[in-house]
Amino acid sequence: MRSLKQSMRWDEEVYGREYDLDIFMIVAVDDFNMGAMENKGLNIFNSSCVLARADTATDATFQRIEAIVAHEYFHNWSGNRVTCRDWFQLSLKEGFTVFRDSEFSADMNSRTVKRIEDVNHLRSAQFAEDAGPMAHPVRPSSFIEISNFYTLTVYEKGAEIVRMIHNLVGKDGFRKGSDLYFERHDGQAVTCEDFVRAMEDANGIDLGQFMRWYTQAGTPVLDVTDSYDADNKRYVLEITQSCPATPGQEEKEPFHIPLAIGLLSPEGINLPVGEKGETTTVLEVREANQQFVFENVAERPLPSLLRGFSAPVRLNYDYSREDLLFLMRHDEDGFNRWDSCQRLATDTILDLMAALACVVNGAHPSAPEKADALLSAFHDQWKGDANVMDMWLSVQVSGARMGSLERVKQLMEHPVFDYRNPNKLRSLIGAFCMRNLKRFHDLSGEGYAFLADNIIRLDKQNPQIAARMLTPLTRWRRYDEQRGGLMKGELERIQANELSKDVFEVVSKSLA
Ligand SMILES: [Zn+2]
Repeated sequence: MRSLKQSMRWDEEVYGREYDLDIFMIVAVDDFNMGAMENKGLNIFNSSCVLARADTATDATFQRIEAIVAHEYFHNWSGNRVTCRDWFQLSLKEGFTVFRDSEFSADMNSRTVKRIEDVNHLRSAQFAEDAGPMAHPVRPSSFIEISNFYTLTVYEKGAEIVRMIHNLVGKDGFRKGSDLYFERHDGQAVTCEDFVRAMEDANGIDLGQFMRWYTQAGTPVLDVTDSYDADNKRYVLEITQSCPATPGQEEKEPFHIPLAIGLLSPEGINLPVGEKGETTTVLEVREANQQFVFENVAERPLPSLLRGFSAPVRLNYDYSREDLLFLMRHDEDGFNRWDSCQRLATDTILDLMAALACVVNGAHPSAPEKADALLSAFHDQWKGDANVMDMWLSVQVSGARMGSLERVKQLMEHPVFDYRNPNKLRSLIGAFCMRNLKRFHDLSGEGYAFLADNIIRLDKQNPQIAARMLTPLTRWRRYDEQRGGLMKGELERIQANELSKDVFEVVSKSLA
């Protein structure tokens, strides 16, 4: 209720949007494929996304609930009052609404921490999707089963596209654009073009090239170099953009990329770089290769690039360790301070790994009887709470030490487990196959065969979940020859069955 009240106030203050009915209802159900659904006036929630109590949930769970309650509430305007003309436009409502809930969470909590969480998720999961067989544009050009396209690309990258427009036109310009969008299209079913056109018209800008973000798949790469001319006090950033090939798209046209940057003096001062003396400016990268020139720069500066992660790209610049330490100390951008720290830590760990000529084969003596007794006591205490039991299942199979395939199979026989319940399937089979990398990818191939057996079984009962749980096998090309071959073999075994449209689409695209 607190989350809902805060969402309602925020949407009134930030977007000028009021709720239009006398009552607002939420229902929580235990058996649900999705997280939640924005049915007008009666939002339907997976109980795991709305029920939490202080003694069993973490802060992260409460924040997740706050975000999802807000997300579904915000859909009343971005999704219900203005809706999608067809399913290809799914990101029209989802990208915009994820952006709205992300900004809401940033305002309710820490803006920098929220941005770090979102970007971590994007980099580790959406970038992987963009690099795999199911890579697709934010607005797909074709599909066999639309359920397969409730993806990180449509949701999270879609939100990044909306954020980039926000970065290009600024906060006030974005509000003008969203006002025009709601004014023009209230009560209509529209397209991504209509959204972008409202932003263009309200701000007098051309986003024609920008529309490629909706039609080209893959994660763009920016390679950045710089030079400094001391005599003329001129600093130059040179940016080259490219984008790897994705299924059905060999060649990509250059993207229109908002690149937020700052420059730091050797004393650690964030220099004025904007027209009005701002210390952050947004460079508009539009060409395959482009130079940006800064005049009157007294000494060679260090660039702080892609501040706030202003675009969903991979950026390469040859920072030394000293540079990274310097940015960690002096960069005014919180996200980049964190990112510099990550780069430095990764670099150091990789160095240490290379330096260690030995592999530690620890025996890790554990006390299985003690662990089992604790798990059993925990079960007896919390068996009445379905969401806690989901965590109880996944904690036992997510790690390599305890989570053998044998244990997964034993737990499938446990009364807590229910093969018809999507949350239980995700917590047990999903957790083992997605998180327990060592055991799932065991060279015996038993993990792969186990997942394939379950996909074949599950497809007859819940094709949507079966298609989603198939994800680990679809990445077979990224593994070594032996594992990749075993995974491919299991995909072919699945393909030999009579399949739902959902699973057929994912299997056939993975093998193509
Ligand atoms: Zn949504």
